[in-house]
Amino acid sequence: MSYEQITYEQIGAIARISLNRADKRNAQGQQLLRELDEAMVQAERDPEIRVVILAGQGAHFSAGHDLKEGTVLRANPTVESRYEYENEHFLGYCLRIYDLSKPTIAQVQGACIAAGFMVANMCDMMVASEDAYFSDPTAHTLGAAAVEMLIHPYVLGLRKAKEFLFTGSRLTAAEGLELGMINKVVPTGELEAETLKLAQRVADAPPFALRLLKRSLNRTRDAQGFRSAIEAHFDTHQLSHTSKEYNDIRDMRKQAQAASGKTSFGKPAPTA
Ligand code: ZN
Repeated sequence: MSYEQITYEQIGAIARISLNRADKRNAQGQQLLRELDEAMVQAERDPEIRVVILAGQGAHFSAGHDLKEGTVLRANPTVESRYEYENEHFLGYCLRIYDLSKPTIAQVQGACIAAGFMVANMCDMMVASEDAYFSDPTAHTLGAAAVEMLIHPYVLGLRKAKEFLFTGSRLTAAEGLELGMINKVVPTGELEAETLKLAQRVADAPPFALRLLKRSLNRTRDAQGFRSAIEAHFDTHQLSHTSKEYNDIRDMRKQAQAASGKTSFGKPAPTA
C-alpha cells in the first residue's frame, strides 16, 4: 500500500498513521481522508498490529476540513450529493476509527480544529503536547451546526461542550487534561516518545482481551444512546448546510475570494 498524504509506520506491534500535509496544516481533503481510512483498514487487518497511533506531521495535528478544496471540487452540491459525501467521508470514516477493534491513541500537537477535533477524538485515548489547542468555531465562522460528528459532549461534558461550541473559543491542552478529554500532556519535544511509551504499554496486554474490553466499553456508551445521538446530529448538521445563514456566509466567502483575485487554491483566477 502506498500513500501520499499520510504515512504508515509499523513499530513492533504498533501502527503509527500520520496525517502528512504539513504545508496545509494537515487539512483534510478527499485524498487524505480516503488514505486515512485505507490505513485504518490496513492496521485493523494486520494480525501483528495491536495498537494504532493517529498523529499529524509538522507543527499542527489538523486544521480541519479542507474548505478550499471543497469549494472547487464540490462547488454547488445538492442536498443529496453533500449528504452522500459527508456520510461516507466524515461520519463513516470517523466511525471506522471509533469502531476499530484495536486500541487507538491520538497524538496531538498545535492546532486541532473542527474536523481535526472530531477525528482526534475518535481515538480511545489522547496524548497532547503542551502547545496543543482545540476549537470548533464552525457555528461562528460557517453558520454550521458544529462538525458532522458531535463527539464534543462525550469528551468535554455537556456544559463545557456548550461553552466550547457556542463561543467557538479555544481550549488549551491543560484544560483538556483537566476535563478528562486528554490522558496525558507532555512537553512538545517528548510527544512522540511519550505516546509510543503508552502505546507499548497497551500493546503488552493480550490482544483478544483488549478487543473484548474495548467492545464492552463502547457498548456501554451505545446503551446510553451514543450511536442514535451521533446519527441524529449528522442529519441536523445537514439541515444547517441548507439554511439561509449558512448560504449567506458561504456567498460572502466566495465574493471575498473573487475580490482577492485568487482561486481557492491560491493561483491567479483565470481571465475568461
Ligand atoms: Zn458538513
